[in-house]
Amino acid sequence: MIKWEANVRKVVPYTPGEQPNDEKMIKLNTNENPYPPAPGVERVLRGMDADALRLYPDPTAGELVRTIAEAYGLKEEQVFVGVGSDDVLAMSFLTFFNSGKPILFPDITYSFYDVWAELFRIPYKRPALDEHFCIRKEDYFAENGGIVFPNPNAPTGLEMAQSDIEEIVRRNQDVIVMIDEAYVDFGAQSAIPLIEKYDNLLVVQTFSKSRSMAGMRIGFACGNPALIKYLNDAKYSFNSYTMNRTAISAGVEAVRDREYFEDTCRKIVETREWAKQELETLGFTLMDSKANFIFASHPSCPAAELYQALRDAHIYVRYFPKERIDNYLRVTIGTKQEMQVFIDFVKAYLSGRQPG
Ligand code: PMP
Repeated sequence: MIKWEANVRKVVPYTPGEQPNDEKMIKLNTNENPYPPAPGVERVLRGMDADALRLYPDPTAGELVRTIAEAYGLKEEQVFVGVGSDDVLAMSFLTFFNSGKPILFPDITYSFYDVWAELFRIPYKRPALDEHFCIRKEDYFAENGGIVFPNPNAPTGLEMAQSDIEEIVRRNQDVIVMIDEAYVDFGAQSAIPLIEKYDNLLVVQTFSKSRSMAGMRIGFACGNPALIKYLNDAKYSFNSYTMNRTAISAGVEAVRDREYFEDTCRKIVETREWAKQELETLGFTLMDSKANFIFASHPSCPAAELYQALRDAHIYVRYFPKERIDNYLRVTIGTKQEMQVFIDFVKAYLSGRQPG
């Protein structure tokens, strides 16, 4: 090894889902929204004044923070914004998980959590989901250095009852509990109201899924003003200008158009419920996903095989070659037409396949 390499911070990075360069593709692999952002976002982009880019953006991203706070009935001091929820979560790990005790998150969950823990040298434990792939709340009652999990969980899509979340937060008041609500807008209940009651709760959301803005990179956290102040202190010690001018202005428009947002989410939920029925008819075992994806397994066709067959047909879904879930496919909910093409392909593939 070269001498200086001994002191390099070595990390095994997170592997994001593929972004293929395939003109014919149906892209159901990274939980993006198949519909465009609210019309106001395009108006903002068309009206952007390039000359304004000479100037730094507002380091507080005040307009965006205020708009989010208003939309969720919160005070500005209760909202933090960042470059996608990945940025918000990473900053939160850095800020709040410093006790030296292991933090807790499920064994099957968003696979960025262990990467941040390794990056920041935070010890961690991963309690196993139960046999139905549900988070066992009791696993989170033991002493720990903090807790993080998504609700609904990824990649299962399963929602945890609000009363169970509250119990976890209540029993862990000496650490920070983060609920990652990346997929909450597709039919699950948000824990945001609980931040008024518990000062150790941080709820993180994103514009990447329900607001169709994965390419813009906007995420936010809601919590007690003291938590938000600590997060901002860490942010300003790292990079004052995380949010650029375009993201701030476009983000504001996306939040203001509540009707468009609700309509888009409703369409995705309807398509999801229809696709679940279709897959069940084809013999798939499904989890009751409350997210913008379905997690499904077929009793006779291995997931790895179907994944490859779909790929060869330019239909991209996600496959995780990981213990316990290596016979499942995660399929993002696209438009009804895209899902019809997906279902038709699967139906034809299964019927033409030799059983075995
Ligand atoms: N949390 C979960 C559970 C996710 O699946 C994702 C999407 N990869 C994120 C957070 C991050 O999303 P973004 O950075 O686009 O807001």
